[in-house]
Amino acid sequence: MSTGDKQLELIEKDKNYLWHALYKDSGKQSPMIAASGEGSWFYDTEGHRYFDGVSGLWCLNLGHGRREIVEAAAEQMMKLSYSPLTLSHEPAIELSAKISELLGGGIYKTFFSNSGSEANETAFKIARQYHAQNGNPGKYKFISRYRAYHGSTLGALSATAQANRRFHYDPPAPGFLHVEPPYRYRSMFGDTADADMKAADMLEQTIIWEGAGTIAAVIMEPFISGGGVIIPTDGYLQRVAEICKKYDVLLIMDEVVSGYGRTGKMFGFMHSEGVQPDIITMAKGLTSGYLPLGATSVKEEIYDKFKGTGPNQSFRHVSTYGGHPASCAVARKNIEIIERENIVSRVDHYGQQILGRLHQLISHPNVGEVRGVGFLYGIELVEDKATKTPVSEAVMGQVIAACKQKGVIIGRNGETVPGFSNVLIIAPPLSSEEDDLVFLIRTIKEAIYSL
Ligand code: PMP
Repeated sequence: MSTGDKQLELIEKDKNYLWHALYKDSGKQSPMIAASGEGSWFYDTEGHRYFDGVSGLWCLNLGHGRREIVEAAAEQMMKLSYSPLTLSHEPAIELSAKISELLGGGIYKTFFSNSGSEANETAFKIARQYHAQNGNPGKYKFISRYRAYHGSTLGALSATAQANRRFHYDPPAPGFLHVEPPYRYRSMFGDTADADMKAADMLEQTIIWEGAGTIAAVIMEPFISGGGVIIPTDGYLQRVAEICKKYDVLLIMDEVVSGYGRTGKMFGFMHSEGVQPDIITMAKGLTSGYLPLGATSVKEEIYDKFKGTGPNQSFRHVSTYGGHPASCAVARKNIEIIERENIVSRVDHYGQQILGRLHQLISHPNVGEVRGVGFLYGIELVEDKATKTPVSEAVMGQVIAACKQKGVIIGRNGETVPGFSNVLIIAPPLSSEEDDLVFLIRTIKEAIYSL
């Protein structure tokens, strides 16, 4: 079969059988079929080469084709192809100890799953059971922020607060509340220096009004990623942690995107001195996307409440594939490379330079704000800087298509108007070559200046 015929066959089968994620089926567009990858680049089946400016779904942190990672998986599969974590196995034991070391702040116990959504679901169940076993069974509610994304399963989706992501799937699970995010640019408290602290005050007020005796936990990312890359004012997270402590509310830090170097620290919460979350959820960068793995790490004091042989004391939660030996072996190798190649300080170093260059775009009439930390950036496009009206769908499409045409894939999110996102998202692999990062910035600038 010729390459052209093979391509047509793939497109036909794709149209007939494959249901894509987040896909609007117009019946017209052909899919981009990824064929192979090399570092931060990939090829489609038509031979086009693209720089992956969003690391897949912000997960391909070490890029494609790391032989060491592949070998770690293969070796583990030959040695012990599968074992559930109702038993134990070496890759999970070693990985859990390494995660605890990386998190700092004493011992963390880790429960493994397969994805970020599951890691958050696990955190919710732990939080409720912890309070029940600590003599507070009434503490069952969770608070997250508007614009947050915490996953696709019904509990995690209930913590997600973007109208369009929930449309068709509501009602949410009971007990999920939302408060204003620390998003000065469009804050209900105004675009002022203290807006983020007022957003934190709103969290406290919500806890008071709902009754602290009903609140199990607050879940948040250190930097909202899927809601438009939102960077809080210094001191915000410390204030949130203080409020949580005051009302015996657990702080769940969703590090699914921000963990393992994405923000220029090993974990995003480490930008906020003194903050040590009670529960930390991870996925994506934990394996750099080579295999699926989710993790929920809890402070020892929380785990202690699960010790004992009482009839209701065990954590009745299991995941067949959670903590798969091959996934854990991959995660260990991934972390070894992150440390050996000083990926975190590299991201911090280049990240500040890139952000400085992207900030120059602010002089463009359609660039409302440029935000970022480490290798995570959002460029908010507006029609008019005074009114902050988002640009049209056509404009968003034009910029993204112009980048693609020049060989760069970037994303978009941040549901400013329900169902419409006007923030360009850039999150390149953390090991990207310097020249490629320069090419990425140049391409984005050209695409925006083509407007
Ligand atoms: N939390 C955050 C912050 C995320 O961005 C995502 C995924 N984009 C998730 C949780 C869910 O992860 P997964 O898709 O692996 O279930």
